[in-house]
Amino acid sequence: MSTPRALRPNIAALLAAGTTYSFEFFPPRDDESEAQLARTLGALEPLRPSFVSITYGAGGSTRDRTHGLVVDVLRQTTMTPMAHLTCVGHRRDELADILERYRRDGVENILALRGDAPAGADLPAGDLRHALELVELARELGPFSVGVAAHPEGHPEASDRARDRRHLAAKLARADFAVTQFFFRCEDYVALVDDLAALGVDKPVIPGIMPVTNVAQIERFAALSGAEVPAGLRARLHAAAGDPAEVRRIGVAAATELCADLLAAGAPGLHFYTLNRSTATREIWAALGLPAAAAA
Ligand SMILES: Cc1cc2nc3c(=O)[nH]c(=O)nc-3n(C[C@H](O)[C@H](O)[C@H](O)COP(=O)(O)OP(=O)(O)OC[C@H]3O[C@@H](n4cnc5c(N)ncnc54)[C@H](O)[C@@H]3O)c2cc1C
Repeated sequence: MSTPRALRPNIAALLAAGTTYSFEFFPPRDDESEAQLARTLGALEPLRPSFVSITYGAGGSTRDRTHGLVVDVLRQTTMTPMAHLTCVGHRRDELADILERYRRDGVENILALRGDAPAGADLPAGDLRHALELVELARELGPFSVGVAAHPEGHPEASDRARDRRHLAAKLARADFAVTQFFFRCEDYVALVDDLAALGVDKPVIPGIMPVTNVAQIERFAALSGAEVPAGLRARLHAAAGDPAEVRRIGVAAATELCADLLAAGAPGLHFYTLNRSTATREIWAALGLPAAAAA
C-alpha cells in the first residue's frame, strides 16, 4: 500500500532533512521496455529512494507517457516522483497546461529544463528560451518544489564557463535545488559548488551518477554531454572491452569510489542515471554500505 500523498515530503524538504538518494528513469516506448521498467521499479523500490525522476522528450515526444508514469509512481508505489519538463518547442500555454495537470494530480516536484531540439526535428521556436523562464512559470502556477539542471564541466553550448556559471547561478537562485549532468571527477563537482558559492548561491546541488556498464555507450553519452572520461578509466575500460563482466566491474567500482568521494566532499545526495536497469545501481548501493531494504 502506498504512503498517502500528503505524507510524502517534497524534494526541498527531503534535502533539508538529510542526504537524498534518487533514481532516474525514462518512459518506456513499447511493451517489452515497459516490462523491463516494471522489473526495475520492483527491484529498486525496496531501497526506499528519497525520490525518483522521470525524463521528458524535448518538444513533447513523451508528453503523455511521462505524465502517465509520474502519476503511476505517485499512486501505485511508495516512491515520490519528480517530473522532468522541457520548454523547447512548446508554447507557454502548453507548458502551463502540463504544469496545471501535474498540480491537479498531486505531483509536487518538477525538474525545469530547456531541452535540446532533436537533430533533424522541425520544432517551432517555443515561447520560453531558457530553463529559468520555466522555473518562473512553475513558481507562478503552483507550490512546486523546482529543480534545475547543472553541468559541472560547463554546458556543451557555452563557450565561456564563467558566463555559463552565472546563468546557472541566476537559475538556481530561483529554484530549490539542482541535479547535475553525469561526470567522472569529484573535483569537477567541487569546482561547480565553489563557483556557485562565490556567486552567492548555496542551494543543494545533487551530483548525477552514471555507472559505466558498456564502453560504446559511455563514449556516446560522454560525447553528447561533454563529460570527459578520465584517461586512466577509459584505458581500463577499453582494455576490458571484450569482457562485459569486467567492464561492468570496473565501471561499478569507479562509480562507487566517485560516490564515496562526493559524499565526503559534502554532496547533499546522489542521483543515479539507471537507464531503466537496476543491477549497477544496486551494486553501487551495496558497495556504499547503504541499507538493502529500509526498515518498515
Ligand atoms: C539532471 C538532468 C536531467 C535532464 N533531463 C532531461 C529530460 O528529461 N529531457 C531532455 O530533453 N533533456 C534533459 N536534460 C538535458 C538538458 O535539457 C540539456 O542539457 C539542455 O541542453 C540544457 O538544458 P538546461 O535546462 O540546462 O538549459 P538552460 O539553463 O536554459 O541553459 C542552456 C544554455 O543556455 C545558456 N543560458 C542560460 N540562460 C541564458 C541567458 N539568459 N542568456 C544566454 N544564455 C543563457 C546556458 O549557459 C547554457 O549554455 C537533462 C539534463 C540534466 C543535467
